[in-house]
Amino acid sequence: MEGNMKAVVLHAPNVYQVEEVEIPKPGRNEVLVEIKSIAICGSDPGIFGGKVLGDGWPPHYPFIAGHEFAGKVVELGEGASNLKVGDRVAGEAHCGCGTCEMCKKGFYNLCDNYGHSGHHHYGHATPGCYAQYQVYDEKALTLMPENVSYDEGSMVDTAGIAFNGIQLTGIVPGGWVGVIGPGPMGLLLAQMAKTMGAKTIIIGYQDHDRLEMAKTVGVDHVIETTEVTDVVEEVRRITGGHGTDRTFDCAGAGDTLDEAIRMTAKNGKVGVIAYPKVPTTQKALYYMVKNQITVQGVRANPNCSLPVLGLIGHGKLEAGRLITHTFPLEQTAEAFDTFVNHKDGAVKVVIHPNGDEED
Ligand SMILES: [Zn+2]
Ligand SMILES: [Zn+2]
Repeated sequence: MEGNMKAVVLHAPNVYQVEEVEIPKPGRNEVLVEIKSIAICGSDPGIFGGKVLGDGWPPHYPFIAGHEFAGKVVELGEGASNLKVGDRVAGEAHCGCGTCEMCKKGFYNLCDNYGHSGHHHYGHATPGCYAQYQVYDEKALTLMPENVSYDEGSMVDTAGIAFNGIQLTGIVPGGWVGVIGPGPMGLLLAQMAKTMGAKTIIIGYQDHDRLEMAKTVGVDHVIETTEVTDVVEEVRRITGGHGTDRTFDCAGAGDTLDEAIRMTAKNGKVGVIAYPKVPTTQKALYYMVKNQITVQGVRANPNCSLPVLGLIGHGKLEAGRLITHTFPLEQTAEAFDTFVNHKDGAVKVVIHPNGDEED
């Protein structure tokens, strides 16, 4: 496709604007996607701010960020054969090289060829979706069921990471799941854990609106940390002294990993999804050994888009309920402000770079 498109172009840390750039051309095994819905990720403000330059994000300026999206295939590159023009697809950030040991085992989120040899980390190391069009390797796209909207599809990357955490640690049907952090990740994870047969507790710090939303999507218990003296004690009380069989740290703040380990039942598992901002204390590590608790790091969402789209399509995951605001591409700055500052009860904020229609 020839011509120009609108994109949010980063020129320096936090210096960006919507401008006209050339529509990219799909290369080998790539397709051009008309971006319909972009969900703002919790990591996007950091990438826009250049704060994660230590990881090479963004790798250079100018750069187009963004990695949570859904859209329509409009052009096929040479060799692309799995998808066809008109296909409605959901994207994911990681695309492995396909040939290294990690990729061969299906762990393309841990590809040994990061940033080269056909590996892409869209919106981080490779240009992303804050634009009207973008090119993607076919491997990074999953066909959406007909009854899943583009807005819901833009939630698949986040929901997939939650799903990967569940996949790595396993859910105990009839058991308890604790989730620290009622953001989009935690809310999606709790819904899936409930669907899989667990009783759920979600824990938030000064997150009243999000805890209210947790109740509306079916979470069994919510704990506002400012209203209890000891979060771990409160979890023990709710679970009849047992603790949570699986606990997920989706906050990574303060003492949340410490609390996650200590609220976990004997022989339980802790999934760490948010990067911990402080080292855990000896108290938690002692408790971890004494009670044989497994702590599992969770990175990204390999092979999770298909089951997540199934859950959404089957009505088992109300991903769309988390979308509280939508904006056109021109109002990206306002969308970020709404998302970052949780304005007006914002949970997930979505941008429509090609208008609001669903076609
Ligand atoms: Zn994300
Ligand atoms: Zn690889």
